[in-house]
Amino acid sequence: MEAIERVLSELPQEIVTMDQDIVSAYTTDFRRQYAGTTSAVLRPRNVEEVQKIVRACAANHVGLVPQGGNTSYCTAATPSDRGDELVLSLERMNRVREIDAANLSLTTDAGIVLSELQQAASDADLMLPLALGSQQSCRIGGNLSTNAGGINVVRYGMARDLVLGLEVVLPDGTLYSELSPLRKNNSGYDVKQLFLGAEGTLGIITGVSLKLVRKHRQTVTAFLAIKEIASVASLLAQAQIQTGEAVTSFEYISDSSLQLLLQSKPNLRRPLQEASDHYVLLEVATASPVLDLEGAVSLLLAELFESGLITDGTIAASEQQRADFWHLRENIPEAEVHHGGSVKHDIAVRTSRLASFVERATEVVQDTTQDAVLSIYGHVGDGNVHFNVVPPASADRALFKRRFEAEISPKIYDIAYEMGGTFSAEYGIGRVKLELLTAYGAKGKVELMRTLKDALDPSDIMNPGKVVPKR
Ligand SMILES: Cc1cc2nc3c(=O)[nH]c(=O)nc-3n(C[C@H](O)[C@H](O)[C@H](O)COP(=O)(O)OP(=O)(O)OC[C@H]3O[C@@H](n4cnc5c(N)ncnc54)[C@H](O)[C@@H]3O)c2cc1C
Repeated sequence: MEAIERVLSELPQEIVTMDQDIVSAYTTDFRRQYAGTTSAVLRPRNVEEVQKIVRACAANHVGLVPQGGNTSYCTAATPSDRGDELVLSLERMNRVREIDAANLSLTTDAGIVLSELQQAASDADLMLPLALGSQQSCRIGGNLSTNAGGINVVRYGMARDLVLGLEVVLPDGTLYSELSPLRKNNSGYDVKQLFLGAEGTLGIITGVSLKLVRKHRQTVTAFLAIKEIASVASLLAQAQIQTGEAVTSFEYISDSSLQLLLQSKPNLRRPLQEASDHYVLLEVATASPVLDLEGAVSLLLAELFESGLITDGTIAASEQQRADFWHLRENIPEAEVHHGGSVKHDIAVRTSRLASFVERATEVVQDTTQDAVLSIYGHVGDGNVHFNVVPPASADRALFKRRFEAEISPKIYDIAYEMGGTFSAEYGIGRVKLELLTAYGAKGKVELMRTLKDALDPSDIMNPGKVVPKR
C-alpha cells in the first residue's frame, strides 16, 4: 500500500477523503452485490485536479475507479476488495458550463446529476431527452460511460446519440478536449466514441457537449392491455405512423411484474379494471402546441381496439395519473428487491423477434421451475426486455440464484445469441459480465478491445478488472 500513500501525499488534502464512514458509501454498489474496499475517495474540483490524480496514479501504478452516481447494475463503479485501488468521484464537478439555446446544445461538467441537467435544459425552455429510473442519483459522466438507455430511446436514441463533443483525461494524465457543440465535424477519427460505453476503462470523462431538443408542449400517456406479446411490434408501428413518429416511450409490463409490485405496495391500484397478461405503457409527445395529439391517440386506441390488438386502454387524464402510470413501470425493480431480488437478464433482440425470444426463454424457465416468478418488462420499443426470474418464496434464494445463473441463464443467453441479440442491452459489462462478453461478444471484438486498452492504458490503471476480459 506504499504506492497508494505516495499518490495521496502528492494530492491536495481537500480532495482526499479517508474517513471510512464516508468512504464505505462509495465501495458498495447500488444493488449491494459487491463490497469493495479503498483507503480513500478522491473528489477533484476541476479538470486540472483530475489530471493531477491520474498522473500520480500512473506514476505509482495505482488503479483508479471513476464514479458518478454509483447506480451501475453491473458493479462497474466500485473498487476491488484488495484495497489496492482509489475511487475518483466526479460529484464536485457539477457545473453547467454553457447553454446555447439557438444551437440546441448544452456543455457541462461530467459530475452533474442527470435530473439537475434535465432541469437546466428545461429552465432554458428546451429538453434533454435522456431519462432513466435512476436519474435523481446517476451523473452524466456515468450515463455516458455506460451509454445509458432509458425510457426515450425509441425516439431519441441512447446517451451516445446525444453527444456532440467530449473532454477526457487520458490514462497518462493528458487531456483530450473536443468540447465543441458542432453538429457537423468530420475532422479525423470520431475518437470520442471510444469513451462512450467504456465504463471508465479508457479515461475519465470530465466534460460533454450534448444535443437538446425542443421542449414538449403536449404529452399523451396511455396504459394499454394487449392480448399477446406478439402484437408489440405492429402496435408500435401503428402508434408511430398515427402520431407522426411522436412516440417517445414504449414500455412493456407483464402481469406477473405488475402483481409483484401490487403485492409489495398494496396501496397501488391496477390502472385498468380487467387484468390482462400483458400491458404497454405508451407515451407520445410533441413540441407543437397546435397539433391534435390527443385526438390522434384516441383514434389510434379506437383502431387498435377494433383490430383486436388491444383489449382495453386508458389515456392519463391528468399529470397525476400520468405519474401514477410511470410509478408502476419504474417501481418494478424495487418490487423484485422486496420479494428477495431476481436473476436478471438484460436482453435485446430486434423488435420483430422479441415475442419469439420471450416465448422460447419462458419455456426454458418453466421446464426447470414452476414456482419461480417470471418478471418480464422493459423498453421493448428498442427491442430491450428485462427477463428476470424471482426465486420462489420457499427457496433458499441465494442458492437458487447461484444455480439458476450457472445452469439456466446460459440457455437464455444462447436463445438471445441464436436470434442475433445481446446479453447486455443497456447495463454494460462491469465486472459481472466479463465471461459473457468472452462467450457471446462479436467476432474479433474482445481482441480489438484489448488492443485499444493496451494502447491507451498500458499500465491498466483505469478501472482495472472491468469490461475487458483478461487474456
Ligand atoms: C432504479 C434504476 C433504474 C435504472 N434504469 C436504467 C435504464 O433505464 N437504462 C440504463 O441504461 N440504465 C439504467 N440503470 C443503470 C444505471 O443507472 C446507469 O447505468 C447509469 O448510466 C449509471 O450512471 P452513474 O452516474 O450512476 O454511473 P456509475 O454507476 O457511478 O458508473 C458507471 C460506470 O461508468 C464509470 N464512470 C462513471 N463516471 C465516469 C466518468 N466521469 N468518466 C469515466 N468513467 C466514469 C464507472 O467507473 C463505471 O464503470 C438503472 C439503475 C437503477 C438503480
